[in-house]
Amino acid sequence: MELSVIIPIYNEESNIDELYRRLLSVLEPMALPGGFELIFINDGSRDQSLPMLLNLAARDERVRYIDFSRNFGHQIAVTAGLDRAGGEAVVIIDADLQDPPELIPVLYQKMHEGFEVVYAKRRSRQGDSVAKKLTARLFYRLLASITSISIPVDTGDFRIISRKVVEGLRLMPEQNKFIRGQISWIGYRQTYIEYDRAERAGGETGYTYRKMIRLALDGITAFSDVPLKAATIGGFIVSGIAFLVMLYTLYSRFVSHDYQPGWPSLMISILFLGGVQLIAIGIIGEYMARLSANVRQRPLYLISATNLAMPASASQNR
Ligand code: UDP
Ligand code: MG
Repeated sequence: MELSVIIPIYNEESNIDELYRRLLSVLEPMALPGGFELIFINDGSRDQSLPMLLNLAARDERVRYIDFSRNFGHQIAVTAGLDRAGGEAVVIIDADLQDPPELIPVLYQKMHEGFEVVYAKRRSRQGDSVAKKLTARLFYRLLASITSISIPVDTGDFRIISRKVVEGLRLMPEQNKFIRGQISWIGYRQTYIEYDRAERAGGETGYTYRKMIRLALDGITAFSDVPLKAATIGGFIVSGIAFLVMLYTLYSRFVSHDYQPGWPSLMISILFLGGVQLIAIGIIGEYMARLSANVRQRPLYLISATNLAMPASASQNR
């Protein structure tokens, strides 16, 4: 199999036929040597999406489907598709035609210039509300500033990835998926093309604010320890200030004698305890950061190329 196309579906009855038609009109002329497959993941749709998919699958053997028992979310749906994709290259695309299928040959072409990942970067986005554009912008900038890997700004999951990258993703068994971050983490040669994001063709967005916030938190917690380390930094700052105020309290008590009875002891104990508490939380945060890195069970490294064989006695990567 040369190419797998992964399409998560959540209440997309008004888009499925058009999407299928446009995908075929793009993929068939590509005359891929090993052929292609379309993997639709029905993520607990409440409309006619599933019967439509079953109908397509009955007519066209290149159409594969996975029907979830309930709504598990977009990232999980894509993961299920990745787990079963057989292609040497895999395209992830939204079902609502905001990501134009016509770009697939461009992505595919670019990949064969020697890249393992080609993602599609939004030059502009139509149809999305001002609030959505603004929050997305802020979020990507924030994420970029607090993570060590470079997660591209203004990109969704629309991209083509090679088999190597799919295998890399399958080595990352973490529960909270933020696929665009995972793909950056994996590395190899990555590049992008730019496109203008269209409006949703039909239906409504399945991404409620709740789901967007959850995705944002998954992205931050999976790729940054900065929030956990904030307590350590805050603790030292507060302790430093507290120390100065303590000196001032002692000065008022013993030198200038300008104080209310009870005030110095009260101030000193509050300031001291405040600093100690924040530092203690910071210490817990440092352990938590290491714990969460271990719990994710990611491989320590991925090798792009080597001429060293693994000695028979050596333990495996993980
Ligand atoms: N989607 C999904 N499960 C969900 C929400 C969305 O599988 O819980 C799918 C949806 O069908 C679409 C893609 O994820 O193919 C992107 O969703 P949507 O277009 O609603 O997001 P937006 O473009 O508004 O960010
Ligand atoms: Mg959309």
